[in-house]
Amino acid sequence: MTSTMEHVAYLSKHIGPRGSTTDAEREAAEYAARVFREAGLEPHVEPFISATSAWRPFAIATGGMLLMFPIFFLGGRWIATAGLFLLVLCTVMELTFTPNPLRWLVPKGRSQNVYAILSPVGPVRQRVILCGHLDTHRTPWAFSSLRALAIYRTLVTLGLPGAVGIGALFLTGAITGNPTWGLPALLPGLLLTAVFAMAIQADFTPYTHGANDNATGAGMVLALAERIRREPLQHTEVWALCTGCEEVGAYGAAAFVRGHADLGQPIFIVLDTLGGPGSGPCYLAQETMLLPLRSDPKLLALADRIARSHPEFGAYRWSNFRGAYTDGAPAIRAGWRVLTFVNLRPDGVLPHWHQPSDVYENVDPEVVARTEAFVWRLLQEMDRTVWES
Ligand SMILES: [Zn+2]
Repeated sequence: MTSTMEHVAYLSKHIGPRGSTTDAEREAAEYAARVFREAGLEPHVEPFISATSAWRPFAIATGGMLLMFPIFFLGGRWIATAGLFLLVLCTVMELTFTPNPLRWLVPKGRSQNVYAILSPVGPVRQRVILCGHLDTHRTPWAFSSLRALAIYRTLVTLGLPGAVGIGALFLTGAITGNPTWGLPALLPGLLLTAVFAMAIQADFTPYTHGANDNATGAGMVLALAERIRREPLQHTEVWALCTGCEEVGAYGAAAFVRGHADLGQPIFIVLDTLGGPGSGPCYLAQETMLLPLRSDPKLLALADRIARSHPEFGAYRWSNFRGAYTDGAPAIRAGWRVLTFVNLRPDGVLPHWHQPSDVYENVDPEVVARTEAFVWRLLQEMDRTVWES
């Protein structure tokens, strides 16, 4: 029996940075498999192909849009207009985790999910998947400080309407045959240049040690699996799942959801970034990259009830995690019943998020312990009431 913090130490210090599709990420998956095996569980390893960068699709999209400017001014006004709208469409698809041509152009690599199944004492009446990702993000300028993050979020929010504006101006220029319509488009063009620069810069930065994001979540999946093995639930089959490639677009969770469509609508509990000082336990009502993806209302109500009746956990609900996604996104899109834990501080900050300071020493074991106690309580309550959909 290993504690969550011991798993965090192994993942973040012994293995260290675990970039999506890297050897270190695979080593983390092998570690998870070993933990399952030593607990007497059978590890299942499922390989999949993933993009290697979260940023590259947007670098290609914004770079392509910028390329439409010289084409427009050199006379290819219809080509520039069509190219621009096509790239906007691809961006929208990428932001909603829908396969699109940008993904054909992005470098790919191999990754893997690892899971083990924990049977209950009695007959199986429901299935709960506990999910934590093993990979770690890079340390881009966009995440380097709260101010940088605010600038990045503003630019990204304005980027898409800005691109649509450029398209509209190009279209007017193409219809009227008047290239001066392209001039006001240069202003939103500056916005895209900034986004392009940030996306390119990101891929030149090193990976984080990912102690908080997400050795805490993956470590908690492993520790909970070991505990459930010793203290099994009554009617709930639990799948302990460590995914790969969350940080580049939740490819691991998407592969898992696709590969296990036969599970119906299981309960999917996401554990991500659970040890920031002064945070959590915090569960999301909604996450919004482009479209709002909502947690399951019944699971939310149960979490609210536990938070109210156990004030010692200090748990709270977060209404909307904006401009970000978790492994919950593909599961919600598939109609699974999802509840996601991301320990945002009450002021909305995710401590050390995608920064070089996301190291073991900056994880608060007390926050991890309270979050784990809350998730354990949640599992017990779910096991008592059977949660058929
Ligand atoms: Zn994460």
